[in-house]
Amino acid sequence: MSRFSSVPYPARAIVLRTRNLGEKDRIMTLLSAEAGKFSAVARGARAPKSKLAAVSQPFTLARFLVTRGRSLDIATQAEVERAHTHIAGDLLHTAWAAYLCELCDIVPERQPDEALFELLRVALEALDQAGERDQADAAGLWFEARFLALLGYAPTIGRCVACGEKIVVPPNDDSRRIAFSPSLGGTLCAACQSRDPQRLTAPAQSLRALHSLSRAASPEAFDVSSLTTLARRELRACLHRSLVVHLEVRLRSRKFLDEVLSAAPCASLPAAAPAAVPLAATSAPPDAL
Ligand SMILES: [Zn+2]
Repeated sequence: MSRFSSVPYPARAIVLRTRNLGEKDRIMTLLSAEAGKFSAVARGARAPKSKLAAVSQPFTLARFLVTRGRSLDIATQAEVERAHTHIAGDLLHTAWAAYLCELCDIVPERQPDEALFELLRVALEALDQAGERDQADAAGLWFEARFLALLGYAPTIGRCVACGEKIVVPPNDDSRRIAFSPSLGGTLCAACQSRDPQRLTAPAQSLRALHSLSRAASPEAFDVSSLTTLARRELRACLHRSLVVHLEVRLRSRKFLDEVLSAAPCASLPAAAPAAVPLAATSAPPDAL
């Protein structure tokens, strides 16, 4: 239904963020599959007994009925589908969720994107269900990798992004460091490293994980606990630099997430432990290391 109709339109949407309006109202920034990102006023939402108080909270998935207003649309009815209350009860999960929602907030308004909505919905659900840090990290890292892929920036791993040369690393050499260029979008062979002075280097284990995550159907399909602490940190660096370079934004929530991540205990293997990513040369996808 056209948003320019005076007839209310339904929207199944996730609350990305809210801000206060006047003394009683709240403006919600919503992400829906059908309408994309848009803002709507939740009138009276700051009154304790308001029916819209609970639904106008960040990370909530709800079904709204929205009326087009003169300057801002107005959510007249709402029904919570998933409150994701466990996210709000955990600092690390909250930090991840805030970061993922801020990433979604960079997209232009009113551009329907069912894949992006579904990506965030699945990641928030995984964060809500996550018990240990590994599961929360899996949800966050999976979202970052899939978000990059969705925007058309899935990195090329296992082939030199400059010359096309195959980059071969034996399966048992997970710690070998390979050059990775966030701006060129993938791994670089030794001869082409100098093509990107801003390149990173990361262990093969991190880059294999990046390759797998970009293609994983869900966070549960990827075992973050198999990564060493170092490999996980460098995977995060590769993902983050790629997002910064391609999106050209710096997100406020990222600093908070980094602080929480560095303070939280990491249950993954110590750096010296044998790597456990099963990537035999014969079963590896064509462009995997
Ligand atoms: Zn090359």
